[in-house]
Amino acid sequence: MDETKKVKKPRGVARLIPGKCIACGARCQSDCPEDAIEINDKGEPVINIEKCIGCRRCLKVCPAEALEIHFTPEEQKILDKIAAQEKGKAPVEAVAGEAPARIKEYRGVWVFVEHTEGRPAVVSWELLGAGAKLAKSLNVDLCTVVIGDKVENLCQESFAYGASRAYLVDAPVFHHYRTETYYKAICYLVEKYKPEILLMGATGLGRDLAGAVATKLNTGLTADCTGLDIDDKGFLLQTRPAFGGNIMATIFTERTRPQMATVRPHVMAMPARDNSRKGEIVRESFDIKEEDVAVKVLEVIEDRGADCIDIAAADVIVSGGRGMRASENFALLQQLADELNGVIGCSRAAVEAGWMPAERQVGQTGKTVRPKIYIACGISGAIQHLVGMQSSDVIIAINQDKQAPIFEVATYGIVGDVFQVVPALINQIRELRAKKSCDMQEDKSGRK
Ligand SMILES: Cc1cc2nc3c(=O)[nH]c(=O)nc-3n(C[C@H](O)[C@H](O)[C@H](O)COP(=O)(O)OP(=O)(O)OC[C@H]3O[C@@H](n4cnc5c(N)ncnc54)[C@H](O)[C@@H]3O)c2cc1C
Repeated sequence: MDETKKVKKPRGVARLIPGKCIACGARCQSDCPEDAIEINDKGEPVINIEKCIGCRRCLKVCPAEALEIHFTPEEQKILDKIAAQEKGKAPVEAVAGEAPARIKEYRGVWVFVEHTEGRPAVVSWELLGAGAKLAKSLNVDLCTVVIGDKVENLCQESFAYGASRAYLVDAPVFHHYRTETYYKAICYLVEKYKPEILLMGATGLGRDLAGAVATKLNTGLTADCTGLDIDDKGFLLQTRPAFGGNIMATIFTERTRPQMATVRPHVMAMPARDNSRKGEIVRESFDIKEEDVAVKVLEVIEDRGADCIDIAAADVIVSGGRGMRASENFALLQQLADELNGVIGCSRAAVEAGWMPAERQVGQTGKTVRPKIYIACGISGAIQHLVGMQSSDVIIAINQDKQAPIFEVATYGIVGDVFQVVPALINQIRELRAKKSCDMQEDKSGRK
């Protein structure tokens, strides 16, 4: 036999585990694509092994985990051989369809702490807030991974935001982010400590790193998640827009670990900071020599472009859409933004019309924002826009179409023409401000 020829993996057949069936109502039977299951008088499945194709659908729908896949001794030998061949390629069981026993060795929720020369990215702390809920559901520890040069202070900061342990890799070779050094260090830690979940920010750095880590570990990664949860089997449910944002897909990683997800900044709420919280620092040294790293960072030049305003960091955003009709009409929104100490954002339609630069775009292919106040002017509320702003504290929508979907997420909705409503708002704010300053003057002179 040709040893190099790829052996076909046996699929096995489904088998009932005695005493586990709860006679739940025969979903296993109705979901079987081959009609291979009959239900007996006790309500238990009887599997016709001639018909069963080992597709595992019955295993997936069984709420009592009362079914398993059975292999003949010959099939088991083939599986062992394939596993031996694949050893070294995949860190976790990769035999298709088998519920991998080894994934049970993986425990804990990890968050990668992103930073630029020691300045942490806020998304890391937001992920700790989301990670805390996941860790609580799974009853496991919430930990951080801190990699850099003289960055031990970030471990302490991560305790303040809820982590109970930090894995620290601290050496000059990690001073600047480089894919090769960071992904190798993370893979080393994952292989040693086996976390079941690993979260990273969906920033430029996080996207680069998460892809490299997931590829190396041969595990699943869901990018740009808008929701994370744990199901009743302990899987990480990773929700994100799919098919151009027209549906929300929930994805899970069934057979490999860790389960990896990235989340954009401002999607998750910032957890409360408590400086009194303490945690354990696990110092790890990962041996990688500077001369072995191909990429050298010569200089870091910060982007100070003409429009370098970070709308994602603003407390107030006044956003305009196609309803603004022309580039010059955004001056009206600028006046409102100035009155409220805010910045201007926009929909993709406004960018495509050439009225606003792409840096100002809010939404799925723009920025995700979470300001205290978001004012949407002449924006219809397409799902791709909503995913980028619906977590704002207060949403005020101004639209002349009372059926516009933006009103479904709005805290306050104003049905009207932006060119009447916005000037009226500006006047009202100015009048209130003038009155307040008059009152203060009178108070002062009265006191005299
Ligand atoms: C893959 C993909 C990614 C996308 N990513 C994004 C994204 O990141 N961000 C984004 O915004 N979009 C995105 N889009 C586009 C999105 O589907 C919509 O086309 C876009 O958001 C529409 O912008 P709009 O609401 O400004 O325009 P429209 O949908 O045309 O809405 C204009 C609104 O203005 C109102 N209006 C008109 N005149 C006035 C007036 N005088 N006073 C008051 N109201 C008025 C109208 O009633 C209407 O509701 C994406 C699409 C795809 C397919």
